Amino acid sequence: MRFLITGGAGFIGSHLAERLLARGDRVVLLDNLSTGCMDNIRHLKASGLMEYHLDNIENRQLVAELVDDADVVVHLAAAVGVKLIVESPVHTIETNVNGTQMVLEAACKKRKRVLIASTSEVYGKNTCVPFHEDADLVLGPTTKGRWSYAASKALDEFLALSYWKEKKLPVIVVRLFNTVGPRQTGRYGMVLPNFVKEALDNRPIHVYGDGKQSRCFCDVRDTVEALIRLMDTDRAIGEVVNVGNTEEISIEGLAQLVKQRTRSSSPIEFIPYDQAYEPGFEDMMRRVPSVEKLHDLTGFRPQTTLSEIIDRVAAFFQEKNESSTPRAATTSVV
Ligand code: UDP
Repeated sequence: MRFLITGGAGFIGSHLAERLLARGDRVVLLDNLSTGCMDNIRHLKASGLMEYHLDNIENRQLVAELVDDADVVVHLAAAVGVKLIVESPVHTIETNVNGTQMVLEAACKKRKRVLIASTSEVYGKNTCVPFHEDADLVLGPTTKGRWSYAASKALDEFLALSYWKEKKLPVIVVRLFNTVGPRQTGRYGMVLPNFVKEALDNRPIHVYGDGKQSRCFCDVRDTVEALIRLMDTDRAIGEVVNVGNTEEISIEGLAQLVKQRTRSSSPIEFIPYDQAYEPGFEDMMRRVPSVEKLHDLTGFRPQTTLSEIIDRVAAFFQEKNESSTPRAATTSVV
């Protein structure tokens, strides 16, 4: 099989490419290296089964050609990371909406199977955890930048499901919950790589808000396994499916666990949200997936423990000797 992965040099895309290559599939990666990087995919060149194009998802002609040549399209290219979204909302909305539109339009011509990556952000402020796929989306006002990400992804979902209903394009929509693992950069605000780097350097670990907000962290290997199984499942077509781990931890608890696993002496410091992001920033207090639908469709549930994930992320940074690099600025548009 030949897979086109948009955002293929990114954190999740590169892990997916690695798995597909290992089972003998051909992969074509499209990435503009905005948040992805060559380091993520350089080791894959040796397979001889990978091709990559460094270009924008908004290059209609190229996207059309690459989609035509593929058997399955995995659309991961998106603006992600809360910090990036708060700082570059125009870029976020345009990339997410235009990119998905371009991919769906191209795939529709020859009815190529398409997996569209959405996000748990779409559940917004809904408090009925665990989140089931048919739950209401509860977003804040349009004056608060954070919600533009959820809204842009919700629009992607509407568009994808409409292509299925109206034009019989075989689409699968996945809502990814906090995915973590080696190669994820902390540059765009993601909490785990930042905490691990801070702990390895014995610098203060910065917990935003009071740290009582909670998340569930899913190992990228589990995420990739779920995506591959869903793509192989006809019953998943036209469906929206959560992909995440159900082990819940508060962010303060995460800081403590990271300290413990890395044997760090870092102090834990609490930073108010309006300093960390922007005045009036709204966070979600809990975010837990229901993975019953994923299990029903594929027989799979993500299971890697958080301690194991932290150890893997710490080993990655130690290996790359990145732990001494200070946290990068996030003001540039990528
Ligand atoms: N967070 C934190 N310190 C950081 C980065 C993030 O306390 O250095 C918090 C953030 O406010 C949120 C949680 O950790 O409550 C998860 O943040 P992330 O950006 O990784 O993902 P989100 O779930 O917000 O999409």
